[in-house]
Amino acid sequence: MNKIDLSGKHAVVTGGSSGIGAAVVRALASAGASVTVMARKRYHSAGDSELYDDPKVEFIELDVSDGKTVTRVFADVAARKGIDISVLAAGLLLSGKVLDTDDETWRRTMAVNLDGVFYATRESIRHMMAQGRGGKLVSIGSIFGYRGCQGFAAYCTSKGGALNFTRQVAMDYAAHGINVNAVAPGFVHTAMTDIYDKEMKETLAAQTPNGKWGTSQQIADAVMFLSSSLADHIHGQSILVDGGWTLGVFAQR
Ligand code: NAP
Repeated sequence: MNKIDLSGKHAVVTGGSSGIGAAVVRALASAGASVTVMARKRYHSAGDSELYDDPKVEFIELDVSDGKTVTRVFADVAARKGIDISVLAAGLLLSGKVLDTDDETWRRTMAVNLDGVFYATRESIRHMMAQGRGGKLVSIGSIFGYRGCQGFAAYCTSKGGALNFTRQVAMDYAAHGINVNAVAPGFVHTAMTDIYDKEMKETLAAQTPNGKWGTSQQIADAVMFLSSSLADHIHGQSILVDGGWTLGVFAQR
């Protein structure tokens, strides 16, 4: 088994201040990469404040929905450290069927989950192209890029768009040694899924073939694979890490 060694590589992680993104930051740093965390807050839970105990990890405040600032911040990081790996984990989950979705909910969801992915992808690719040594970009998608979810009109639409965007960008830059892929989590215990109560969490686990929620570490494991040379021949794919949730429906009691 190849051990993933990312020594000498620099990674940026949007949304690295919490949940899945924070697990990715830990995994990248422990494989030897230096990492820039980009989010609005340095950390959300006391446990994640320890990310910055590692001198290889820095924080830059960034709202991914602000295109001009994304351009400036990525240029600054690229000039100081280069960008070899870019992981896009910043995301927002707002609920509502379409009749309950006001303009602000729709715009905010698209601004973070779709515009934010567009801005960060464009700037990552721009600097990877200029550096001329290829690169890896991994977007955190969702099972709801593939399927709908009752009551989450804006979120599911944004994740569906981001999934096809991954395929599109992957085609356009594959010839330059840039691998653009995604990891699509199922249900994972993070601050985002605290909206579900205990009973709902148990119901969702029961609807999952392996009977479990996932962990941020399990999502980070797939991100590490796609961020490494093990994935050099993989372009435009999305790895579902979902306990089998998307495989089908249960037809038996
Ligand atoms: P989380 O713990 O709430 O983390 C969300 C991250 O996104 C935080 O670091 C947050 O940092 C950042 N973020 C939100 N808005 C931002 C903005 N405007 N600019 C910059 N950063 C922003 O949730 P999570 O579960 O780890 O979610 C990570 C990704 O996984 C999301 O894309 C989500 O859609 C996806 N996902 C999660 C699950 C799940 O079950 N948890 C399932 C499928 C997909 P700040 O608030 O400090 O900015």
